[in-house]
Amino acid sequence: MANELFLSLLTIMTKKKLLFLLSLISISFSAQIYRPIDTADYIQRKEFIKNFSSGNEMLVRNIKSKYPGKTGSELEKIYSEFEKDFIKQVKNKDFIFASVFDSKVKSLIERLRKNNPEIPKNLNILIAKDNTPNAYCLADRTFVINMGLFYWLDNDDQIASVISHELGHKMEEHSLKAFLSYINQNQKDRITVKSLKAVKENQKQNAFEILKSRVYKKSIEKRNDEIQADSLGYAVFRKSDFSKSEFVNALKKLQQFDTISPRQLKVETYKKYFTLPQQEFKEKWLNKEDFSLYNYNHFKEKLDKDSLSSHPEVALRIEKLKTTFPELASSSVSPEASESFKNLEKTARMESMSNLYHSEDYGLGIYASLQSLQDGEEEIYHKMWLGKYFSKIYEARKNYNLNRYLDRVDPKNQSESYQQFLNFMWNLSLDEIKNIADYYQKKS
Ligand SMILES: [Zn+2]
Repeated sequence: MANELFLSLLTIMTKKKLLFLLSLISISFSAQIYRPIDTADYIQRKEFIKNFSSGNEMLVRNIKSKYPGKTGSELEKIYSEFEKDFIKQVKNKDFIFASVFDSKVKSLIERLRKNNPEIPKNLNILIAKDNTPNAYCLADRTFVINMGLFYWLDNDDQIASVISHELGHKMEEHSLKAFLSYINQNQKDRITVKSLKAVKENQKQNAFEILKSRVYKKSIEKRNDEIQADSLGYAVFRKSDFSKSEFVNALKKLQQFDTISPRQLKVETYKKYFTLPQQEFKEKWLNKEDFSLYNYNHFKEKLDKDSLSSHPEVALRIEKLKTTFPELASSSVSPEASESFKNLEKTARMESMSNLYHSEDYGLGIYASLQSLQDGEEEIYHKMWLGKYFSKIYEARKNYNLNRYLDRVDPKNQSESYQQFLNFMWNLSLDEIKNIADYYQKKS
């Protein structure tokens, strides 16, 4: 909870949506086998944690002098809780240090700073091993940039626009304001709940109403924050030498990520990669469960989904920008990506395998490797990952905890192609999984 509140997210996306992303990846052929990024960065990690902790201490001291009393100590609780949680993520190697992505982001910030000297000099950049196109800034001077931005966005200018948006959040101290309103609301709710207890009737319903109004209020506040960060961010961005229209084009790209529908995994692909010398392909692996008898209404969400969306519809943000800044009104074609950007795009695409392995999304990893193989991309590399993922799936199946690593079929929320894939995976027996794992591990 504290974590979520602490961050000002550009967009919040579920892992499921990764599927859409992965299914759109373009085909590119190359002769060399891709070498994964070396994550032996123990020294940098240690250094980061040291600086992060002392930065956080300073932050808390400042805040306590600014907000004495109960509010100050509540804030302190939130910040130290967050610090603990964030350091845990760093230790868990959720971020990479001193990578090619780092230097790119730093050079983009330098370019922004040329005409915006007010941008702080000592920003910390962290690259997250996360495939979703997302970025956020922390209450100190740390900016987190997800690797996924590099293969979802089109060029340097679009990455710079995301950084500018985050700078907008930073300028307005949105995360601090969100905490203050959270603390304030908590106190109000406590009073309301007390007075409600006097009325025995409909107690549960009333408690639910409180929760609901709170969730709605939060999403409206968040929406305003996003719109404000867009305006402030664009004010920085337009002064730089980046192509102005890319600020809107980046938002359009993120909107696509939300709505795109997945490409199919063909039956031939299953047959091609699961017909092995020691094990023939079985048609029954592709059998689908019949879900027509389930009553999905039973699980219907109680809260209205639209109002709950944690970031405002991107379309609305684009409209706002176009009214505030008339030069953005007409749409224009994106400039071609620089060579260095194209290399990063490829690196991010290849690293997506390692990222899914790191987050233990083994089922998704298999699905994504199969799609890359279907596209004829980096065959040896992706077969190696098939072996790694399948051996994890084997262990999980043996230990009866496959549910943790492989989704259940959910016809309401999954594409046909992904449902087919899940049916296939759940239809495999323990021995069959082992044969596949052994085959692809030996191959690599
Ligand atoms: Zn934002």
